[in-house]
Amino acid sequence: MSNVAIGVDVGGTKALALIVARDGRVLSEVKSATPHDLNESAGAATASVLTEQVRELCARHGLDPSAVPIGIGLPGLMRRDGRLAFAPNLQSVSGADVGALLSESLGSSLVHCENDANCAALAEHEWGAARGIDDFVMVTLGTGIGGGVFVDGRLVRGRSGFAGEIGHMVVQARGAACSCGGYGCWERYASGGGLGRLTREAAEAGRLPTLVERRGDVDAVRAEDVTTAAAEGLDEAVVLMKEMGWWLALGLANLAAILDAGHFVIGGGLSIASDLVLPSARGYLVDLVEGYDARPTITVTSSMFGPRSGAMGAALVAFERGP
Ligand SMILES: [Zn+2]
Repeated sequence: MSNVAIGVDVGGTKALALIVARDGRVLSEVKSATPHDLNESAGAATASVLTEQVRELCARHGLDPSAVPIGIGLPGLMRRDGRLAFAPNLQSVSGADVGALLSESLGSSLVHCENDANCAALAEHEWGAARGIDDFVMVTLGTGIGGGVFVDGRLVRGRSGFAGEIGHMVVQARGAACSCGGYGCWERYASGGGLGRLTREAAEAGRLPTLVERRGDVDAVRAEDVTTAAAEGLDEAVVLMKEMGWWLALGLANLAAILDAGHFVIGGGLSIASDLVLPSARGYLVDLVEGYDARPTITVTSSMFGPRSGAMGAALVAFERGP
């Protein structure tokens, strides 16, 4: 039984690889840009980046890449057999069996794939913000929104392994176009990508005059400008973060209505901005959740591991399914 595992979280913009000990300690990390080459055969460029990451981590720690359990978290519809059926935010990998490609390049039979947000939920449940909590929803805010749903202490997988695609709940009928082909999906309003979209709209509508002046052009204002300025207390940026908080709360209210979830753990790449969004989301929930006062308290907390929880959970999957 291995004392360490490698967990890799492949996001829309970067891939984070960690060596993790059984008690959840992170021993080493490597970060790379996620390739988006649609000309390569599905997943080939991504698999070669991951192979390099695994080799580098193993070299640092004197490990044999073929003998270490490896878990990979990928966004989208992950089938139970490990093939990624559909990945709107990572189209170069859609349809690929990244685990098989990595197994081949490393000569390893210890590679396991799982949905990235499921990985984050498993890590937070084992070591982090949801320890000891049987009913919760992990919400990862990155390029899109990922979800990992725990009911009665177990991860809900659904018929095909596709459960928890909460980012594609429709929160605005005939709303903003989504990379999945639909319209009005939650992740177009409350993710990192969603904040980028809200920012563009607000800048064009003249609601971010200070930031437009600072950048010198309406099109140059980015989501990061808004989060930075909101942290400094600039009113127009604070208002936009509150707007995102309302959209976040709307999705959480829908999940509360369906699942009776009492706890939401908010993580992912945008969790760094959660101090700016979560207080307003908690406030809006009071009005948006059906029978709020009749329910036990609903908590909305930041994940303990932030952008790392996906990769940590991928390592946990590797421990559980590895040798
Ligand atoms: Zn969608």
